[in-house]
Amino acid sequence: MSNVAPSSPEKLAAGNWKMNGTSADLSILETIIRDLAPEAGAGALICPPATLLSAAAHLSKATPLRIGAQNCHEAATGAHTGDISAEMLRDAGATHVIVGHSERRADHRETDDAVRAKAEAAQRAGLTAIVCVGETEDEREAGRQIEVVTSQLAGSLPDGATADRTIIAYEPVWAIGTGKAATPADIAEIHGAIRSALSTRFGAQGSAMSLLYGGSVKPANAAEIFAVENVDGALIGGASLKAEDFLAIHSALAAA
Ligand code: PEP
Repeated sequence: MSNVAPSSPEKLAAGNWKMNGTSADLSILETIIRDLAPEAGAGALICPPATLLSAAAHLSKATPLRIGAQNCHEAATGAHTGDISAEMLRDAGATHVIVGHSERRADHRETDDAVRAKAEAAQRAGLTAIVCVGETEDEREAGRQIEVVTSQLAGSLPDGATADRTIIAYEPVWAIGTGKAATPADIAEIHGAIRSALSTRFGAQGSAMSLLYGGSVKPANAAEIFAVENVDGALIGGASLKAEDFLAIHSALAAA
């Protein structure tokens, strides 16, 4: 971890494959690696399922593409059948780990406390945590989006979080996998509130943390989303399973 904050947030296009992909789909990664512009000025990350981590890390070794995981356990080792620690993910070649994705908050009842413990585990293991926050449709309809997101953020981030080991992904639950992305105005409002909360709590480190938007990002809407203030990239679900779509989103980010 660095105590010196970078001068500006890193731009990052991060793909989340969720529970999709077998070894046959490593060809998608091969295409991404082949066609990724090395000088693009925007980072690229793919988070495949845990079963493909080692193979993906092997394929991407010495290329600009980095490989991340989708979850980790908070402990380093122990009697936790079926779980994987952050140290194990790093050993498999991961550089990043997504924590607190809304699907895990819903399917596995992960609380902010649990997400914070996972983010701490990521820091301990030398991984960058991509910490996800986002309101549900009901919460937005009730006008509670800022309150919900800033409260999740406060509870899910460990004290001492630094810009080189922490990325925030704002993912409104109603926009994930629905084809209905948030509008630039919606994104600007929430990303502005997130930036302000991060700067207040973490100072220069908070000002330099990358803020990703996630929720139905595709080549057709990427440029408009990346033009929004305080958007430093995207967390991309469905579109990251198509090499050409992921590459087009990455190019749009590099050009933004
Ligand atoms: C996600 O689940 O992180 C996501 C953003 O999915 P999609 O791009 O498919 O909406």
